[in-house]
Amino acid sequence: MQLEAVIGLEVHAQLLTDSKIFCGCSTRFGAEPNHNTCPVCLGMPGVLPVLNKKVVDYALRTALATNCQIAPYSIFARKNYFYPDLPKGYQISQYEKPLAEKGWVDIEVEEGERRIGITRIHLEEDAGKLIHEEGARGAFSYVDFNRTGVPLIEIVSEPDIRSPEEASEYLRSLRDILRYLEVCDGNMEEGSFRCDANVSIRQRGEKGMGVKAEVKNMNSFRFVQRALEYEISRQKGVLEEGGKIIQETRLWEESRGVTISMRGKEEAHDYRYFPEPDLIPLKIDPSWIERIKETLPELPGERKERFIREYQLPPDDAGLLTGNKALADYYEKCVKLYNKTKIVSNWIMGEVSAKLKSKELEIEQCPVTPEMLTGMLKLVDKGTISGKIAKDVFNQIWESGKSAEEIVEEKGLVQVSDAAEIEQIVDKVLADNPAEIEQYRAGKDKLLGFFVGQVMKASEGKANPRIVNEIVRKKLGR
Ligand code: ADP
Ligand code: MG
Ligand code: ZN
Repeated sequence: MQLEAVIGLEVHAQLLTDSKIFCGCSTRFGAEPNHNTCPVCLGMPGVLPVLNKKVVDYALRTALATNCQIAPYSIFARKNYFYPDLPKGYQISQYEKPLAEKGWVDIEVEEGERRIGITRIHLEEDAGKLIHEEGARGAFSYVDFNRTGVPLIEIVSEPDIRSPEEASEYLRSLRDILRYLEVCDGNMEEGSFRCDANVSIRQRGEKGMGVKAEVKNMNSFRFVQRALEYEISRQKGVLEEGGKIIQETRLWEESRGVTISMRGKEEAHDYRYFPEPDLIPLKIDPSWIERIKETLPELPGERKERFIREYQLPPDDAGLLTGNKALADYYEKCVKLYNKTKIVSNWIMGEVSAKLKSKELEIEQCPVTPEMLTGMLKLVDKGTISGKIAKDVFNQIWESGKSAEEIVEEKGLVQVSDAAEIEQIVDKVLADNPAEIEQYRAGKDKLLGFFVGQVMKASEGKANPRIVNEIVRKKLGR
């Protein structure tokens, strides 16, 4: 029997507003515990919430960028549950009438483009944070309410995802969009972009869906992928042995690489949802939507298409460069200064990205500016330095902050193109390797590369490889 996985993702994204969703407290991360609080977000009796307009702006940006229909009226609802990080005993969320519905995100997978439906996007407030500590005097739990009332949007996907790779690609695309919109920093490790994954298994070709489990606690893209791989094979195993999947919430345990059962799934009625009596319906008139539309930036998908068209880049290059807005900006600054678009792309995806990664830096912190990078590429074009030396020069620009010209001058790295000078080196290399010359003359053509390599080495990479090649061939007489 051919089984297939069915996956739907629920993403919680923290919005980058300065203040919380229903009070004026700061959302700043890393403040002293319980510093960013007031009677409203602490849930004191008698307080009233006031909706932060910017939160709605940001949610509308997201809804429009994901092709959603925006509800002219949406309703806040109380989701009741008891937990120590929730001071009011309920979370203000949206339930029956969310802000936006019926959108989609297109993703690119090996088999081509896939459209993943967005069921809904709604607004809600975040809960606080519990900190558990075990010390010499016993075990203590603390609660930090700085995060209560930080604005979230929940983005619920249709069960359109069929594999862990697709899930990961969907999450990346969604995060790229949120970052382009500047509404969320997309940081999974720090919890500002969180994902719960719903998974079930059915026979391929079947229309209905199997019983699902919800997996939580995955705080990186890699963990989502691994957790889904595990959960899919677990469920397949249960079904193949004739067992039944039970509806439940499971936790990903990264250290053991397994999901474990946490609790039976809550049903909606467990939360006793009802309309929030302290907030009026949220009315969005068409002019508000129009205003937001006017401020939308070019989105990653559109920018990728433009990069392919305008810079004749292969789709893979365009996808990688435009996935990160700052990286795409960096690229475009470079090609304004130096028009060999593919060479710039190779350098950014190669040396620049590798070095950033090894230093754990973002492109915004790259010490080599577009001016410096393209200044170096121009020296290669002019033949002043070889492509090989360029990598060295790049590292030195990185370390010193000097321009390529300055470094080349100081260190005497200018490429040697003088035939007489190169000829001397070639003569020495040939004199040192008589056995190889004999083999070469006897037909071992591969040795040409050996001689050229030796000459390059002897010149410390500075000889012009084209001229070296010519001279070596001429001297060897073949
Ligand atoms: P619940 O009420 O249990 O939260 P929802 O209908 O709100 O379920 O769906 C939550 C998420 O689970 C959505 O992303 C949805 O696409 C996904 N989902 C729903 N049913 C299934 C299923 N049988 N298998 C996999 N995913 C599912
Ligand atoms: Mg749900
Ligand atoms: Zn507050």
